[in-house]
Amino acid sequence: MAVIVVGAGPAGTRAAARLVEAGLRPILLDEGSRQGGQIYRRQPENFTRPPAALYGSEAGKATALHRDFAALRPHIDYRPETLAWGARPGELLTLHGETATALRYDALILATGATDRVMPVPGWTLPGAYTLGAAQIALKAQACAIGRRPVFFGTGPLLYLVAWQYRKAGVEVAAVLDTSPFAARLRALPLLAARPGVLLAGLRYTAALLRAGVRVESGITPLAVEGEGGRVAAFRWRDRRGREQALATDAVGMGYGLRSETQLADLLKCRFAFDPVARQWLPELDAEGRSSVPGVYLAGDGALVRGADAAELAGRLAACALLRDAGHPVDPLETAHLRAGLRGMARFRRGLETAFPWPGAQAAALPDATIICRCEAVTAGDIRHAAAALDAPEVNRAKQLMRPGMGRCQGRVCGLAAAEVLAAARGVPVRAAGRLRGAAPVKPLPVATRMPEETP
Ligand SMILES: Cc1cc2nc3c(=O)[nH]c(=O)nc-3n(C[C@H](O)[C@H](O)[C@H](O)COP(=O)(O)OP(=O)(O)OC[C@H]3O[C@@H](n4cnc5c(N)ncnc54)[C@H](O)[C@@H]3O)c2cc1C
Repeated sequence: MAVIVVGAGPAGTRAAARLVEAGLRPILLDEGSRQGGQIYRRQPENFTRPPAALYGSEAGKATALHRDFAALRPHIDYRPETLAWGARPGELLTLHGETATALRYDALILATGATDRVMPVPGWTLPGAYTLGAAQIALKAQACAIGRRPVFFGTGPLLYLVAWQYRKAGVEVAAVLDTSPFAARLRALPLLAARPGVLLAGLRYTAALLRAGVRVESGITPLAVEGEGGRVAAFRWRDRRGREQALATDAVGMGYGLRSETQLADLLKCRFAFDPVARQWLPELDAEGRSSVPGVYLAGDGALVRGADAAELAGRLAACALLRDAGHPVDPLETAHLRAGLRGMARFRRGLETAFPWPGAQAAALPDATIICRCEAVTAGDIRHAAAALDAPEVNRAKQLMRPGMGRCQGRVCGLAAAEVLAAARGVPVRAAGRLRGAAPVKPLPVATRMPEETP
């Protein structure tokens, strides 16, 4: 039986391990050069920082996952630096180097993780403006900081974590500015208490930032990233009392939680449903990770953002579902145990969305000149024009008319904000603005790509 797992993060690694336990030899592919995914991202081979320096409180889990992968590797067909750029029923289209290949599969587990959720602000495309994830990757993978005195803004646990990691690495953090009001975090406490250890870790990061004298504010409204000489020079915002504030800075890191990478499921025509908690369209799954398309399973943040511990459980659970569907014996106690573990994490996830809500309403207030789609330089005004003057009822029509989401990233960066701008312009809930349909290639391919040969 040909099984492919896309993504070698916590979810994909645990899924592959469970398949191997059942006697299968899956293909595990990842566009990255080393296994580990986002949170347990590895440094280049010749870097020697110890796990405690790289992963902090998660060092034990990172080391366990890396160690288990080393034991797993001889038993799987591991393909690093291999991008899954397209999919059609029974076939995954991949790229390694400049060679594209069509890999046949009987069953597919998509464990493609998530990326930053971005709400544009004037100036966010200036050199020196990064997402929080990119700021963290620079530090984790390359031991580089995005600037000498960065401002971090947005919302979500990653905001505080990245700022703290920068501070710990010796960078002077100018400010940590959260769009969520402090009261939202208090409201979320009963839900966040579902995972007291994680909650405490989050509180510790904030306390450490305050102790280090870092300016930390809640309930802010970003106004602009300002440039000088073609790069970031300052950040302007309105504080919770409505006063305008500004800080000189050479870099900003911004982000509003994460969004699932769902394009491959979309290409395979999996059914999607609107998730009101995340305000995103997500693939419809049963409790074990089966999509609406037989033979296609999803796990980890690529299905629903619940964090790394949940990703490990969900990866194993999706593999169990696949095995059971393929006629392999699976102990019901095992799946019951995995499902129970995931239930507590679902409660915690609702807590995070309550504590750090996506500031969808900000989209309505963005000046017309704000770039929303940076690939095609489409502004908020262009999308409003599509929505009102050209009567585009949803984002795919707006894309045809004004090109938001038409460029290299295929709407992965701008899609959610474009939907918010369109919905606000038409006075409808964001759900009614729809979602940008996935299109291959889901990530850019080199011009020199040699197109697929059939492989067994
Ligand atoms: C930038 C970033 C930083 C984060 N930092 C933290 C943190 O510090 N602490 C924390 O608790 N959580 C963090 N998170 C969340 C945490 O990483 C996730 O909850 C966890 O890693 C989820 O595991 P996963 O296996 O579902 O996905 P991931 O770990 O994201 O793994 C997905 C893998 O799929 C691969 N992939 C994706 N698409 C394709 C494709 N088309 N073709 C081939 N390969 C593909 C990726 O290269 C990646 O290795 C972060 C998330 C992001 C996005």
